[in-house]
Amino acid sequence: MVFFYLRPMQSNRQVFLRHVAQTSSAPLLIEIARAEGVYMYGPDGQRYMDLISGISVSNVGHSHPRVVSAVQEQAAKYMHLMVYGELVETPQTALALALAEILPTSLNSVYFTNSGTEATEGAMKLAKRVTGRRQFIHFRHSYHGSSQGALSVMGDEYFKRAFRPLLPDILMLEYGNLADLDQITTDTAAVIIDPVQAESGVTIATPEYIQKLREICTAKGSLLILDEAQTAFGRCGSMFAFEQYGIVPDILILAKAFGGGMPLGAFIADRALMYELAENPVLGHITTFGGHPVSCAAGLAALRAIQEEKLIEQVEAKGQLFEQMLKHPRIKSIRRRGLMMAMEFDSYEQNKKIIDLCIANGVLTDWFLFAPQCMRIGPPLIITEDQIRMACEVILRSIS
Ligand code: PMP
Repeated sequence: MVFFYLRPMQSNRQVFLRHVAQTSSAPLLIEIARAEGVYMYGPDGQRYMDLISGISVSNVGHSHPRVVSAVQEQAAKYMHLMVYGELVETPQTALALALAEILPTSLNSVYFTNSGTEATEGAMKLAKRVTGRRQFIHFRHSYHGSSQGALSVMGDEYFKRAFRPLLPDILMLEYGNLADLDQITTDTAAVIIDPVQAESGVTIATPEYIQKLREICTAKGSLLILDEAQTAFGRCGSMFAFEQYGIVPDILILAKAFGGGMPLGAFIADRALMYELAENPVLGHITTFGGHPVSCAAGLAALRAIQEEKLIEQVEAKGQLFEQMLKHPRIKSIRRRGLMMAMEFDSYEQNKKIIDLCIANGVLTDWFLFAPQCMRIGPPLIITEDQIRMACEVILRSIS
């Protein structure tokens, strides 16, 4: 025991670096003691405005009172009871029903998962079972998760190379290129796509393109998997981005903001398709914690907050205010759908310097996985006009 007492005291940051597994050599390394609304606070009271929402998670803001109450109430009633799919748990049925009420009728069966990655895995497995095919088509600069199935449909070889062999029969197409869609054939199990590609620095598909894709998938008997992990729950100015495209996917992936800050994902399809995972083999996709009652309670509370606080109606005006304010000769371009926005600079180095200055001045922002020269702006949807003005002033000062 003496041995432990002799160890020098380690700061929280040192423990983080030594004992919490690292994902890069350059973590943000900011310590946060609490968070509320659009702000996070350090242990000494430093305040950071969150312009990235934990990467498209905190759409209703941090620690929304409604979500906190739902979590507390559900945790006091029950937490984990049994592996997914056996017991009737009210938090799951209430959330599934709330989704069924706002989704098209063919998206009526919700498979709850722990994360977006697991939702991608489930969606891909379902597509294999439904079609009996094994080819998947994805797009350059796509990101659908980090497990080996999801990684197989990641649109960047640098991130995949070290983990090969991945899934066979994967074809990558250029996002937005109509002619490429000819490569979808009767061998294709599914095409997985984001209506707005976040990690490429906000690349927005046109309705014509997504409608053509829908048409071809239907003609070839391939499933259309729409990954709305980042785009749903108001982020793009409608509850789900697909509403703006006049199509309905065969499988919809939800994650991130879905749990209101708790871990929760889902893949959603028609129950006739979904039943394929229940037979031959039985238990075609299983999970212990997927659809955790506390996560589902939080998810329903967040959904109700979005609806009752009419957050979606405000998204476009708030996005426009950002765009109007962020005018500077160093900003090369801005791409935006709702409150998902990428601001492009000349280089990663320039962007990184500006991001660091923003953080030093209390505004937390970031870059994109496949667009390091672009600054990510995706605040909680509850951000006020005054807060937007404050954030933009800090950004403009940092650029200058
Ligand atoms: N799909 C998209 C579009 C994503 O952005 C992400 C996460 N960045 C995922 C899937 C994977 O979600 P998770 O990190 O919850 O596994």
